[in-house]
Amino acid sequence: MQQSAFLPREALSQLFQALQGDGYRVVGPTAEQGAIVYRELGSVAELPAGLVDHQAPGRYRLEQQAHGRYFDWVGTAQGLKPWLFTPEQPLMVAREVEGGLRFESVRETVPPTAVIGLRNCDLAALALQDRHFLQGEYPDPHYAARREQLLLIAVNCHRSAATCFCVSTGDGPEVTAGADLVLDELGAGFWVWASSPRGRALLARLPTRPLAGAHKRRSKALRKRARLQQRALPSTDLREPLYKARDNEQLWQSVADRCLTCGNCAAVCPTCFCSRVDEESPLDASQSTQIRRWDTCFNDEHSYLVGHVVRESAVHKYRQWLTHKLAMWHDQYDRSGCTGCGRCITWCPVGIDIVEEVDRLCTEVKAGAPRE
Ligand code: SF4
Ligand code: SF4
Repeated sequence: MQQSAFLPREALSQLFQALQGDGYRVVGPTAEQGAIVYRELGSVAELPAGLVDHQAPGRYRLEQQAHGRYFDWVGTAQGLKPWLFTPEQPLMVAREVEGGLRFESVRETVPPTAVIGLRNCDLAALALQDRHFLQGEYPDPHYAARREQLLLIAVNCHRSAATCFCVSTGDGPEVTAGADLVLDELGAGFWVWASSPRGRALLARLPTRPLAGAHKRRSKALRKRARLQQRALPSTDLREPLYKARDNEQLWQSVADRCLTCGNCAAVCPTCFCSRVDEESPLDASQSTQIRRWDTCFNDEHSYLVGHVVRESAVHKYRQWLTHKLAMWHDQYDRSGCTGCGRCITWCPVGIDIVEEVDRLCTEVKAGAPRE
């Protein structure tokens, strides 16, 4: 059974203290180098009070406002991905020992971690990463070790950025599933829902009071406002137009002319999961460490095969990224790989907009664009 109550704003620090008292490190949003990012936090004072983000293709700015709300920004620069699928992960060490080599798997001790501030698109991306890393034939032990330690506290969005399109992918903006606690920030406090046994136990220890009818009305209006978005994908399943566009290089050339193949879009995307494994040794060659590092379709080495880079041009790289994310994922994971968070639009240095590109491709395929 779900429970809900009103938590006064000044009591948010008691949520932090309850989590820290239970042995959790608390990870939450904070402002760093002009952006909202997830970091380990010591107290409520580190939350981005009053900061509002303005996002557009290739543009991100923070503005300080007087209202002091903690969660009035829309999205962190990166989602939860770096906390589970880390940018660098040592996998195995081979050491020279007398008479041969000894191989040791690397296993880390991960502390219990409570993450506060997640949006529904973050939770949807987490469910996709779970599908990839945990539900295949070979579950990833490094991801699993981090995932098992998570307690998730999500926040309903009360506005959308100009780059958001989660309504059209079915992944937001309202929190639907996957969190232990859900917060709705209402000025004087929070409407808090508990959605799991752990969430209910936590809520029972907080100094809450009954919810007023005015809180519910305000919350409903704000959540409705968040659904007003400027962008939308034309469909949740784009296999047909994207497979039709695949062999027509002319269709991809206009985006390839602008794409720097920098890979920013994949780095900030909460669902991109590609990696490579590097082998590193000290100069005395006494040991060798295998390290998994993030990789993307935009790197030449990612498609290096028997002495040949298969996807050398920007046309081939961008086409691979977009077609895999929005078409092939359906065949692999029964849904698209995009949760509509808009990060790839905001953080693309030349402002390439995935929604605009899809719209253009669909229109040109429908109009029967000439083949090269
Ligand atoms: S493709 Fe872009 S909008 Fe979609 S989940 Fe990735 S970063 Fe977000
Ligand atoms: S689409 Fe933008 S972010 Fe992605 S590789 Fe090209 S230039 Fe970089």
